[in-house]
Amino acid sequence: MITTDVENYPGFAEGIQGPDLMVEFRKQAERFGTEFLEEWITEADLSQRPFRLETSNYNINAATLIIATGASAKWLGVPGEAKVPNGYGGHGVSACATCDGPLPGFRNKELVVVGGGDTAMEEATFLTRYAAKVYVVHRRDKLRASKIMQEKAFKNPKIEFIWNTGLEEILGEPQHGVTGVRLKNLQTNAERVLPCTGVFIAIGHKPNTDLFKGQVEMDEVGYIKTSHRSTATNIPGVFACGDVQDSTYRQAVTAAGTGCMAALDAERYLDHLPVVTLEGDEVTIEGEHLTPDHQAIIEPDGTIVANKTTVLASTKK
Ligand SMILES: Cc1cc2nc3c(=O)[nH]c(=O)nc-3n(C[C@H](O)[C@H](O)[C@H](O)COP(=O)(O)OP(=O)(O)OC[C@H]3O[C@@H](n4cnc5c(N)ncnc54)[C@H](O)[C@@H]3O)c2cc1C
Repeated sequence: MITTDVENYPGFAEGIQGPDLMVEFRKQAERFGTEFLEEWITEADLSQRPFRLETSNYNINAATLIIATGASAKWLGVPGEAKVPNGYGGHGVSACATCDGPLPGFRNKELVVVGGGDTAMEEATFLTRYAAKVYVVHRRDKLRASKIMQEKAFKNPKIEFIWNTGLEEILGEPQHGVTGVRLKNLQTNAERVLPCTGVFIAIGHKPNTDLFKGQVEMDEVGYIKTSHRSTATNIPGVFACGDVQDSTYRQAVTAAGTGCMAALDAERYLDHLPVVTLEGDEVTIEGEHLTPDHQAIIEPDGTIVANKTTVLASTKK
């Protein structure tokens, strides 16, 4: 988690700093015997069990694996965008309106959202709950967002669109944070400064899944596909949780929720109990599949046997 103030995690009425929340998570996990290896995984081989992971110092063999590598917000790379002290990131620049929009520093202020897709429309619309005005800066003269999201944004009196325009620089002062943006009209090359208190970069996210490409099933953007009934991926024994498999909610509490699901799924799997796969059938660590209609069991060698259920006759007391 890179955010600082977390105002919406349950149990912290006054909010909590992201790093402090992570320290608490870690202490709690340590209390239950979790071992931590602070290493960067550079290679993963999920083609056979045990799964193999490599870091610069370790070869790790794993009977089961939970992928929780998150998703990174895309940035423009313009001056002023980097995190404090190199820019105003965390001091007026954000990539998450749901997380940061309600913060006092943005309330009743003029804000800028950069982007033209669904994320940008959603962020801009959300921010109008708190902001005095929201400018949407977009490089083209039309949006990529879905029609319904566009209409919602066009109807909102607090949103003003600035078309054919690029964000060149985020301006600010160390003690006040963001004070404005330098914009360039891409048709005329004319530049101007627009005063504002916050800038939300809403040009999408990139899931951190390059390591698993070609091995784990993903959607077209690279989010890992999981079963709608569990955290199972297409590889039995490999589970995924948090932002790496969730392009919709992307919140700390939802990541923690699916993290809990993944831990329970992995534990079940290691306990030789069946877990629901991506296709909807059930599989055990021995490779036994129970079909989605529960009518047949496919043994690891491919033999299909009927799944005979025993009907217990009721008896009168
Ligand atoms: C600016 C900002 C503000 C936010 N504010 C809030 C908020 O106020 N409230 C809220 O609920 N949510 C907030 N969020 C969203 C929240 O941070 C995420 O939803 C949550 O952290 C997702 O958890 P995760 O465990 O899936 O991924 P992450 O927290 O992103 O964790 C993924 C971890 O995997 C590690 N990793 C990735 N690749 C590798 C590798 N190859 N080897 C080893 N480690 C690797 C990363 O370094 C990282 O530590 C915010 C997000 C942003 C960007």
